[in-house]
Amino acid sequence: MQLSEEHEALRATVEDFAQKEVAPVIGDFYIKEKFPYALVAKMGEMGLFGLPVGEEYGGMGGDYVALCVALEELGRIDQSVAITLEAGVSLGIMPLLRFGSDEQKQRWLPDLAAGRTLGGFGLTEAGGGSDAGATRTTAKLDGGEWVINGTKAFITNSGTDITSLVTVTAVTGRGERSDGAGNGGEDGKKEISAILVPSGTDGFTVAPSYSKVGWNASDTHELVFDDCRVPEENLVGTRGRGYAQFLSILDEGRVAIAALSTGAAQGCVDESLRYAREREAFGAAIGTYQGIQFKIAEMESRTVCARLAWQDAAAKMSAGVPFKKEAAIAKLVSSNAAMDNARDATQIFGGYGFMNEYPVARHYRDSKILEIGEGTSEVQKILIARHLGL
Ligand SMILES: Cc1cc2nc3c(=O)[nH]c(=O)nc-3n(C[C@H](O)[C@H](O)[C@H](O)COP(=O)(O)OP(=O)(O)OC[C@H]3O[C@@H](n4cnc5c(N)ncnc54)[C@H](O)[C@@H]3O)c2cc1C
Repeated sequence: MQLSEEHEALRATVEDFAQKEVAPVIGDFYIKEKFPYALVAKMGEMGLFGLPVGEEYGGMGGDYVALCVALEELGRIDQSVAITLEAGVSLGIMPLLRFGSDEQKQRWLPDLAAGRTLGGFGLTEAGGGSDAGATRTTAKLDGGEWVINGTKAFITNSGTDITSLVTVTAVTGRGERSDGAGNGGEDGKKEISAILVPSGTDGFTVAPSYSKVGWNASDTHELVFDDCRVPEENLVGTRGRGYAQFLSILDEGRVAIAALSTGAAQGCVDESLRYAREREAFGAAIGTYQGIQFKIAEMESRTVCARLAWQDAAAKMSAGVPFKKEAAIAKLVSSNAAMDNARDATQIFGGYGFMNEYPVARHYRDSKILEIGEGTSEVQKILIARHLGL
């Protein structure tokens, strides 16, 4: 896909930011497992969080392709920074933008779109992420308030100093809708809804950061809700539609994650090309050996296929035609490309590829989660097979 003039200008701006401002400092944040507040603030000033948000909420009025273009450039340099933006938009902003009430949008979106605050989305629980319908967290209506009890696991952007809210899925009923007090439901099935919980609400505790294998400069926490009360109006979207709403949010998010993964795959190509030209072994640059050339040729091929896949999904999404299968394919092939390229790039770097200060080592540690988060590779295959009628 040929990028439009506007998208190309954005790409060049983000590339410049990533290379000049992110690359020199992010390794230190990563090793110290610190959240890069100044970089996030800068991304906010650049308007990146507001790319798909309408101007009435302080956004750029752009489209999802623009967000993907930005994520690819950031993912090339660093995945922690890229996932902070990706989750900030696709999990923090999009549920409110797509399903929030006017009041919710007016109250929360301007700061989120400006990157002054971050939002998280809590679907996964310790008992299971792929089977999102297995949600155990409950929310019951009591005196005009939702009373939330349960825990959420691995929630991105949920515990930073600038986190303003998390939206969580919770079981709001089961069985026949009978008492109108949050204890209803249809056909005996769980009724799952999405509820917005502002940071600092009594009964809402953010657990200390996880010790992670990768994405070490990003923010991930377990969240605990213990008789946490929020107003009834904090319901996001339609009661009982929380699960369906979240699945549609995930379809969009997969296109964004695919773009980020493509960037990671590209970053591995960039680094490997550079190193293959300058590193010598047996009296010649390693890039003159066919074994290395073939590796880099395969890496480049995977990257190009990954890019075509996210652009295809994004184009369909923008055109308003079904894109669920394309999003799943893009997520699957691009996360594989990132992981495979990270492994090959680390091999090309030899021992230096195992040193944390080298970007390829970061990609090696970071890329694995791309095959797991926002739907595992197995989940993508289930979705693709389902679309093929199996
Ligand atoms: C750093 C990080 C950030 C995250 N951020 C968020 C966030 O912001 N919000 C959020 O809600 N979640 C978040 N997650 C959670 C992530 O989305 C889940 O970890 C992921 O969806 C997988 O769920 P699980 O870990 O429970 O694995 P499980 O669902 O228990 O799966 C375990 C394994 O079984 C496989 N499997 C499951 N079912 C099937 C099946 N039917 N057929 C074949 N294989 C199957 C899976 O593919 C996987 O390989 C994050 C996770 C991490 C690590």
